[in-house]
Amino acid sequence: MSASASQRRALPTVRTVAELRGVVGGWHRAGDRVSLVPTMGALHRGHLALVERGRALCPRAVASLFVNPTQFGPNEDFARYPRDEAADAALLASAGCDLLYAPGVAEMYPEGFASSVNPGPIAERQCGPFRPGHFAGVATVVSKLLLQSQADVALFGEKDFQQFQVIRRVAADLDIPVRIEGVPTVRESDGLALSSRNVYLTPEQRTVAPALYRTLREMARRLDAGDTVAVVTADGLAALRRAGFTAIDYFEVADAQTLLPLARLDRPGRILSAVWLGKTRLIDNIAAIPRH
Ligand code: AMP
Repeated sequence: MSASASQRRALPTVRTVAELRGVVGGWHRAGDRVSLVPTMGALHRGHLALVERGRALCPRAVASLFVNPTQFGPNEDFARYPRDEAADAALLASAGCDLLYAPGVAEMYPEGFASSVNPGPIAERQCGPFRPGHFAGVATVVSKLLLQSQADVALFGEKDFQQFQVIRRVAADLDIPVRIEGVPTVRESDGLALSSRNVYLTPEQRTVAPALYRTLREMARRLDAGDTVAVVTADGLAALRRAGFTAIDYFEVADAQTLLPLARLDRPGRILSAVWLGKTRLIDNIAAIPRH
């Protein structure tokens, strides 16, 4: 099928666990492995990179679309989060997705729903204190999506690096039979990580935003050149303040697996950051590779 023909193809959509299991079960019986990309919609090239990676690993690709109320805090943007299912479905079809799973809130959290997944210490650092309950909400909904879909592989963006490591931890701890794969962050040409929330930036804030990734890159370069974590972190913070970020939730070098702070880069690290431009919170991160 040509690209334009595949773009016109309506994407099969299911809204219940029973229908989802019916389709995926059929694929498994036919011997096909299945990938899953969980999303909250407002899709962009970052999400499509996950679908394409899933497509490369398995013959069948499912994407889910669910704006999960339990991972938003009371003062966060749940109500105004951008929603456009028809546009998302068209993009997913163009990326080779076979099935959209778009459940309603009552399918995910029926009357009487009460359990939640607590991801433990890995969720208590970085974004954890600034977004109480967020990672329990993410861990619970992603565990449900993995178990509902029975996918063989699930793809997550490194853009949300702490989320990716939380999900790896939870899937391993709960013996969920799935392979969790990370996909590198997709960026604008000026380095800004694609995010559904970038639409909130004013034109002026949009010109400041790429300084976050520039600063992270510069930090990674200096760590690679042998500068200390303390000096590089202090200089990075100063650079962010000069660039015009209005608040900085955190900006730190952590162990890439456990996310515990690293005083010395003696193992694979990750520089993790969350900063504000007015009312919009941006997160980003970069690998910090130890020198040998
Ligand atoms: P979201 O819909 O924002 O919850 O994101 C769904 C998935 O897409 C998550 O695994 C994100 O980490 C991933 N994602 C979001 N933005 C990007 C990006 N710029 N590059 C790669 N993956 C991304």
